[in-house]
Amino acid sequence: MSKMIAVGNQKGGVGKTTTTVNLGAALATLGKKVLIIDSDSQGNATSGLGVERSALDASLYEVLIDQIPIQDVIVETSQDNLWIVPSNIQLAAAELELVNIENRESRLKEAVAPIRKNYDYILIDCPPSLGQLSINAFTASDTILIPVQAEYYALEGLTQLLNTIRLVQKTYNRNFRIEGVLITMLDARTNLGFEVMDEVRKYFHEKVYRTVIPRNIRLSEAPSYGQSVIEYDSRSRGAEMYVELAKEVISNGE
Ligand code: ADP
Ligand code: MG
Repeated sequence: MSKMIAVGNQKGGVGKTTTTVNLGAALATLGKKVLIIDSDSQGNATSGLGVERSALDASLYEVLIDQIPIQDVIVETSQDNLWIVPSNIQLAAAELELVNIENRESRLKEAVAPIRKNYDYILIDCPPSLGQLSINAFTASDTILIPVQAEYYALEGLTQLLNTIRLVQKTYNRNFRIEGVLITMLDARTNLGFEVMDEVRKYFHEKVYRTVIPRNIRLSEAPSYGQSVIEYDSRSRGAEMYVELAKEVISNGE
């Protein structure tokens, strides 16, 4: 059975891309077939997995707007079991162009339908906004994984995100659920991080993953080598914790 998970939070810099890439890579090392869809025009998941953004013949943009088959844009990564639908700055235009298209919210869902069964997990790296690209991701997905940074104002903006999730459930995707809430970038040297963790647990209860992602320099270094942290330094704390998360995601799905 294949599962499609949107990694979303309209706040920037909370660890969406880091989580998409490294959870994907961790699932792949555990033997799952994984497709990552880069739905952010910044293309950080694309470059972070070693795919040259500027040299793309086609990308998610052409899939959504020109409706070319998604199979034609899927690229292999250097890691076994891990593929990506790349994006670049061109995708920014899709946000506007989609507005005038009929059934705009289900473009991604339709595009992915013929290939869903080929993967155990499809992870979507969402943009830092709640526009058409996020709505497409939520409409296509079974669940949303919400990274929350262990920082001041961690819960800020989450009401808006939950409202959007409800709207999607009501209008486009009745079975859409929260996969889990992931605390990211925890700094174990300060109390603040732990206070925020408590606050997030009070709000989301058992939806919060037991696995917490610590601040780890390897996680921020890996993308500049075009590698997941699993490839870059599999013995780092960052790699270990994303493998832990992957195990938790797998066991939650059983
Ligand atoms: P988003 O996709 O939500 O904007 P990113 O995943 O790009 O967030 O993370 C924002 C920045 O923080 C990036 O520079 C990334 O390398 C860094 N980062 C993310 N998670 C961690 C972590 N656990 N430890 C250290 N740096 C991190
Ligand atoms: Mg990002």
